Amino acid sequence: MVDLSLLAGAASSLRIASDVASSLVGLRDHQLLQTKVIELQRLILDAQSSATSAQMQQMELVQQIRDLQKEIEAFNNWQAVTQRYELVDMGGDTFSYRLKGNLTDEPAHLLCTNCFEDRRKSVLQRTSSHGTQKQYQCPACKSTYWLGQHTPSPPRQVRRSSEW
Ligand SMILES: [Zn+2]
Repeated sequence: MVDLSLLAGAASSLRIASDVASSLVGLRDHQLLQTKVIELQRLILDAQSSATSAQMQQMELVQQIRDLQKEIEAFNNWQAVTQRYELVDMGGDTFSYRLKGNLTDEPAHLLCTNCFEDRRKSVLQRTSSHGTQKQYQCPACKSTYWLGQHTPSPPRQVRRSSEW
């Protein structure tokens, strides 16, 4: 909010300056004339200072409005992204955000849950698989996920060393 007292101060200074300027007409006393001119200059400077402060406040407010508009736009953009994905259990209580089917012609993909919570869309990249589990890595936050039902490996066959 622009400080209205700054604008009122500027208007008041200019009004007084106008009165002082009017009183200059007809002055013959050089000393008094000099004093009135100095007073007039001070009043004009006060008015300029108040006007400059008000203008600075207005510029700050305009910047705040721009910042808020950007935040609103980013919020709306993220809302549009979240509408396209759903949190799914990939098996064995492992979760990821998956692109909803039939909404787009993009290939099926998964998003990093860590980045998603930070309002960032990062597509997981598969790095390996083991049994029914698949390992993915997030290129943004470097998180590694094992997704899918864990199936225990069959017990290793223990080789008996030959008897000596
Ligand atoms: Zn991530």
